[in-house]
Amino acid sequence: MSGIGLSLRNVGVEYPARDGDEPFIALSGVHLDVQPGEIVAIVGPSGGGKTTILNVVAGFLAYEGDVSVGGDKPGRRRDLGYMFQREMLLPWRTMLGNVALALELRGVERQQRNEEAAAFLERVGLEGFERSYPYQVSGGMAKRASLAQVLIHKPSLLLLDEPFAALDPFTRASIEQDLLGLVEQSGTTTVFVTHNLQEAIALSDRVVVTSTLPGRVLGDHQIDIPRPRSVLDVQYTPRFAELEQEIWAQLRGQVVAAA
Ligand code: ADP
Ligand code: MG
Repeated sequence: MSGIGLSLRNVGVEYPARDGDEPFIALSGVHLDVQPGEIVAIVGPSGGGKTTILNVVAGFLAYEGDVSVGGDKPGRRRDLGYMFQREMLLPWRTMLGNVALALELRGVERQQRNEEAAAFLERVGLEGFERSYPYQVSGGMAKRASLAQVLIHKPSLLLLDEPFAALDPFTRASIEQDLLGLVEQSGTTTVFVTHNLQEAIALSDRVVVTSTLPGRVLGDHQIDIPRPRSVLDVQYTPRFAELEQEIWAQLRGQVVAAA
């Protein structure tokens, strides 16, 4: 399994008007290129169209401009993984049952899907919790399970929308470290939205800064910190501090202007 590239050229999105209002312009003139296997973070002000960008790539929205997802139009590929902001674990299914669900829907027979789901649970650090129900596990473990739910599709492109926002910093770092290991190993192209600048820098090859509405890409910052990285330790290196300052200088104008 390896990653696919992604390109957005001059992309705009309008949401339909309500009650005779003007249509609402969420994105305008968005340019973004992601190379196969790259890990890219999108940071920007709340309500600035970050989720809308992911939804265009996933093929959920009508848009203007040109979008290529591994050479195809959005919505054509089946090797996309999308982890939404809120996890989607069915409360009446065990962790194993939740992770196996996608395979079940595809008609994979029981023993095979359970073996595969167990392997993915192990990969995200949930060995021994196959029979637990979502209400019996911590928030971090539920996140790990929803990550397994997405990875079991063996995506060539992984989209993550503020995946770890609700977790405490140490739980978050631990999941991020595991995620990093998994996508680095598989070469999966990864695009994730976050409002956490430290998280963006620690995980990514590039950090893209988006604007207030209508959303567009303001800046693109190469993160030249060698891999493998320790998510927790990397933030105490001098280069990290420089990059953080450089990106914050750009982000600040967007998130503070509105306040
Ligand atoms: P972000 O993820 O950066 O917070 P979003 O992409 O979710 O921003 O939303 C951008 C803007 O578009 C917001 O002002 C939001 O209210 C609006 N919006 C999002 N989805 C819809 C929709 N389905 N219909 C109308 N407006 C929407
Ligand atoms: Mg959002």
